[in-house]
Amino acid sequence: MKKKIINFLFYAITISLLLSCNPQTAVDTEKAEQPKEWALVIHGGAGVITRDLMTSERDSAYRSVLRAALKKGESVLAQRGTAIDAVEQTIHIMENSPLFNAGRGAVFTSEGTNEMDAAIMNGSDLNAGSVAGITGIKNPISAARAVMEESVHVMLSGKGAFEFAAAQGLEQVEPSYFYTDRRYKQLTEAVNNEKNGTVGCCALDKDGNLAAATSTGGMTNKKYNRIGDAPVIGAGTYANNATCAVSATGHGEYFIRWTVAHDISALMEYRDLSLQEAARLVINDKLVKAGGNGGVIAVDNMGNISMPFNSEGMFRGYRDSEGNSGVFIYEDE
Ligand code: ASP
Repeated sequence: MKKKIINFLFYAITISLLLSCNPQTAVDTEKAEQPKEWALVIHGGAGVITRDLMTSERDSAYRSVLRAALKKGESVLAQRGTAIDAVEQTIHIMENSPLFNAGRGAVFTSEGTNEMDAAIMNGSDLNAGSVAGITGIKNPISAARAVMEESVHVMLSGKGAFEFAAAQGLEQVEPSYFYTDRRYKQLTEAVNNEKNGTVGCCALDKDGNLAAATSTGGMTNKKYNRIGDAPVIGAGTYANNATCAVSATGHGEYFIRWTVAHDISALMEYRDLSLQEAARLVINDKLVKAGGNGGVIAVDNMGNISMPFNSEGMFRGYRDSEGNSGVFIYEDE
């Protein structure tokens, strides 16, 4: 009993300190009194994203793809589409843009290839699918969905993942489709700016179901078929109707070791924390202490949204049935 009280006090103090000291704005929506009909949140990667590294053209190009992605998700959810359809279609918009490190704009491996990771999860039955190190498929998130719906497995990798996706009739593309000058320079000239750009989406639909999806090219110059957190269920991607849906971005090795997405859900389920408290505790406290850079986007079953990060910036945005919406890059806007 005594231990329980000490534990409770420890968490209560840590959380109130986090909430009062954290200067970030543009990170959470106001706590909902009533469940929202639907809600949608996206990210386009976290990392060293500062105003000095951005031109105003690039800033507005990113914001306009983020807005287009939100609009797509809204069109699905407002018409009573499912959370799974919403997250898949929203991710397609970002995978098809060369700006983000997913699909078309995926970063290069040390061998000059593009190996992509993606995962999708359904909060109503905890069904999930993911692909790791997949090549040659235009939209890896759809390959992940096919694994979830058309196979008895959760995770497929490499050549097998490609063969499965191809057998499902998913669109194939030549390696040149993934060639972008900017990403190639990041490999060959070690140009260090804006290496980030993983994409993610979480949604709550009108039936109260949650879904999460994440898609990425991983890390520039990766070797030995390295796989990140995005396709690891519970690390980079997780959804559970009882709590929340989460998609992560950042230094994948830390997100795997700290099982970030599931930890946020578990803190809500077992410690009764709010989404905002749980997400901030994991990102702004646990991961900071561990040295793990990045952030998450998350939505709970009331439609509350949280988008904490501990890096300089994170491309992100949200929209809900009450008309709230926003698109942000830096800490404050
Ligand atoms: N989390 C991704 C990975 O480690 C990279 C990122 O989000 O920037 O593969």
